[in-house]
Amino acid sequence: MNQVGNYEEKILHNSSVLGDMSKLGHESVYFCNDKRTGLKAIIAIHNTVLGPSLGGVRMWNYNNESEAINDVLRLSRGMTYKASISGLNLGGGKGVIIGDQNNKTNEMMEKFGDFVNQLGGRYITAEDVGISPSDMIHVKKKTNHVTGIPEDLGGSGDPSPMTAYGVYMGIKASAEFKWGSSELKGKSIMIQGTGKVGESLIGYLQNDDVELHISDISEERVVNVANKYNIEKFNIGADIYKYDTDIYCPCALGATLNSKSIDMLECSIVAGAANNQLEDEKIHGYQLLKKGILYAPDFLINSGGLINVYSEIANYNNHESRIRTEKIFDTTLKIFSQSEQKNVSSHDAALFLAEKRILDKQKS
Ligand code: NAD
Repeated sequence: MNQVGNYEEKILHNSSVLGDMSKLGHESVYFCNDKRTGLKAIIAIHNTVLGPSLGGVRMWNYNNESEAINDVLRLSRGMTYKASISGLNLGGGKGVIIGDQNNKTNEMMEKFGDFVNQLGGRYITAEDVGISPSDMIHVKKKTNHVTGIPEDLGGSGDPSPMTAYGVYMGIKASAEFKWGSSELKGKSIMIQGTGKVGESLIGYLQNDDVELHISDISEERVVNVANKYNIEKFNIGADIYKYDTDIYCPCALGATLNSKSIDMLECSIVAGAANNQLEDEKIHGYQLLKKGILYAPDFLINSGGLINVYSEIANYNNHESRIRTEKIFDTTLKIFSQSEQKNVSSHDAALFLAEKRILDKQKS
């Protein structure tokens, strides 16, 4: 069973979708089923106080339906806080398509576009794990509520490079806070997951002359990336927590920070792109704090991609997206200071800031 599955067992035992929605504060959840294309999808809208919900659609071969529901609920909630802390006028939503990425068809993506369109703009989609900008072309045939379409078609393209740039800003801010300098030269960094974001991040970090160690469950992927970037230290599989590096950078799936993995971690900083890295945000944010490991909140430092796709709606350009993404550095430092002053986890400090903007808007 994968990591998402472990989480599902723990959280959804004896619970219902409506019960989980009310626990996590969701507005609506839609189930989509199309016999012709084989599309089985779920769209969750968490909160639309700041604007229409926006979040990518993920295609994943979930072990069962409740695992998919759990994922879409957690991911859409994260999008609410990501948009809020980044100062964007957007709410949080997310889609998941249940199935093997190898069985994805253009017709299936068109049908997903149909479902998105039926929501009348309350949910705007984009790409996530298992979905590429070219898939968005097919979604766009059926709805205008789509972002992240290829640049040659007038869109902002793949958000992953901007996500990686934001994560790089978050890593540098973490180094500044922990070691008094954002200089990364000579630091050892473990990147878990060498997909779209992980690979872009390698590009940034190599300019800083860091010592890279990479890992992926896909042997083909990790070997290709290691060869392309001349990285000697790489391994295949999910078991990386025993490696002694300065920074652990989760860029695969969520819930990798749990009681067992945190016990094993020897690093000083955790800063990466994956959504929902803390298996349980209340327990594991504090376990990291207690162990003296500085944790850069995921929904803050991985917001570059959202900032980039938002440019398609807000009509700003790539240069502006980059400038907005660079602000992640300052916000991350601010969150670490607040966490220290209030003696709360960095995750809670970030959550507080994000929730405050939503509450202020509700009051106004
Ligand atoms: P991707 O599908 O391109 O890459 C993910 C990689 O992780 C794949 O190579 C996969 O084989 C590997 N992987 C999966 N489980 C693993 C494990 N247990 N150990 C090691 N490797 C594993 O996805 P991506 O777009 O690079 O996104 C990576 C993460 O960042 C996801 O959690 C995603 O939700 C998050 N994220 C992505 C973006 C974006 O712009 N793409 C934005 C925000 C957050």
